[in-house]
Amino acid sequence: MRAFLSPPFLNGNDERDLVAAALDSNYIAPCGPMVDALEREAAARLGFGGALATVSGTMALELLARALGIRPGDEVVVSDLTFIASVAPFVDRGATPVFVDADPATWCMDVALAARALEEHPRARALVATDLYGQSCDLDALIDLCAARGVYLIVDAAESLGATYRGRAAGKGAWAAVHSLNGNKIITAGGGGLLLSDDPGLLTLCRKLAGQAREPVPWYEHERLGTHGRLGNVPAAIALAQFRHLGDALRDKGRVWAGWLSRLPAWAKPMPVAPYGEPNHWLTVVTLEGRDPLRAVEALAAAGLEARPLWKPMHLQPVFRGAPAVLGGVGEELFARGLCLPSGRGLSPELMDEAVSILEAV
Ligand SMILES: *Cc1c(COP(=O)(O)O)cnc(C)c1O
Repeated sequence: MRAFLSPPFLNGNDERDLVAAALDSNYIAPCGPMVDALEREAAARLGFGGALATVSGTMALELLARALGIRPGDEVVVSDLTFIASVAPFVDRGATPVFVDADPATWCMDVALAARALEEHPRARALVATDLYGQSCDLDALIDLCAARGVYLIVDAAESLGATYRGRAAGKGAWAAVHSLNGNKIITAGGGGLLLSDDPGLLTLCRKLAGQAREPVPWYEHERLGTHGRLGNVPAAIALAQFRHLGDALRDKGRVWAGWLSRLPAWAKPMPVAPYGEPNHWLTVVTLEGRDPLRAVEALAAAGLEARPLWKPMHLQPVFRGAPAVLGGVGEELFARGLCLPSGRGLSPELMDEAVSILEAV
């Protein structure tokens, strides 16, 4: 490949220096000073009460499912147009998902349809809304909706680290927000995640659950089940260096987005930017009119340029067949017409020009 969809980007020697410091200190075990520093910096910069660094974004969501005590018979309302990790940790613990379609103006969860889902499923425990492709969901509307019904609001902000909603960080104001530090996201630990919240009790509980739910006594004592979910000190060193360059990442992703926008023909329409915030432009995503996205993916791949279709809506996934859903046909339409373009921070103008001429010929 000459251009991957969203490859990791290293900031000079900064990652290497912090990893070397971690190794020199002999802290290669889970926990350690890099983890503490990452959690402190993430909470401070994003304006949350606290943060917990986890082995993945999926693990952060699993910890929330465990903290909620999700069990068979529970219902959880979730975005339909998302990656399966928003849903799987809850369904894995026995919950029934209720899928809610996207709003065509934001591609994130449609608030009116979410209200309908909560009316039809009054016993739903939680609502998980995804910030799609780096754009915040309509956070305040969802906060009000969930508060009025006593539903826990979780923002799957795996794709939206650095994005804002009405001037605050993505997910701020929800019960909890989750970021991913996977290799394809805007910044990375190699693999990792962050759980952010303003609820100190929730953070303490999740920290405990991520450490096999060990009780604070000298011997190994367990009153409930946990898991092994905390980030190690070495990946935390990489993430910390990356986090300190989040501003650079946002600037570069914004440049790539603007570069595509200035080149794309009228039949390739970019994902709309909602007026309530600044996306992080993690991926540049378009819908094609009159051209087949799968053929575009193939033609670009033949030139060494990685593009992908959009997330396939959850209600179309065989594993969720028969699950309740409140749909408006939006996710299906976006899946049929959408294309994620190569969006790496170092993507050159020449490669964008080349990709556009390939698309013209599809
Ligand atoms: C990447 C992603 C996740 C999962 O994050 P991992 O760190 O890969 O486990 C969850 N939800 C969405 C929407 C994602 O894009």
